[in-house]
Amino acid sequence: MRKLKSKSTDFFILTMNREMYHEIEKFIDASCCVKFSFLDLGKRAAGFSTPNECVVSTSIFQLPLEYMLYILLHEVSHQYQYKKYGKNLCLDIYKSEISLDEAVSKLLHIESVADRLALAKMKFILKTCNVPLQIDPIPRYLGNTNYEYFKKYISDIRENVNLLNLETIEEINAYIYASIIDN
Ligand SMILES: [Zn+2]
Repeated sequence: MRKLKSKSTDFFILTMNREMYHEIEKFIDASCCVKFSFLDLGKRAAGFSTPNECVVSTSIFQLPLEYMLYILLHEVSHQYQYKKYGKNLCLDIYKSEISLDEAVSKLLHIESVADRLALAKMKFILKTCNVPLQIDPIPRYLGNTNYEYFKKYISDIRENVNLLNLETIEEINAYIYASIIDN
């Protein structure tokens, strides 16, 4: 797989059903994702997606297959959103161009769309590969009522975006990236 280049990829390839691996590869390729990698993110995040790259934590290897696929496909689904809406999809969320409430609603909407796509794709891949679904993953964001959590998350980022005078989505993503990777 051209876009999966890390040591942990070897583990992924070895444990993954060949056909399933091919389906995931096709999904990543069609998303136009610039760079896909597995990184050990510890407990900080299961993964994240920016217009420049998609990172999934190696911790998903310990999860049941359905959850592993769901998380991986969720992060790749964001790449389809960037492809459709452009790299500035989340810019107004992190800058104070829309109200905090609107920003929370927008982010929750983006997340739930990614969840829907990920779950549909997961079921499609399992069916294509004749692997029975054993666990139906509980989506993280569909019907998410944890509004206050997102409000705090966004307002913290907004505060730092202001403080650090971050202007472009590249600068903001670099800041978010560093806060996940360097912590
Ligand atoms: Zn997401």
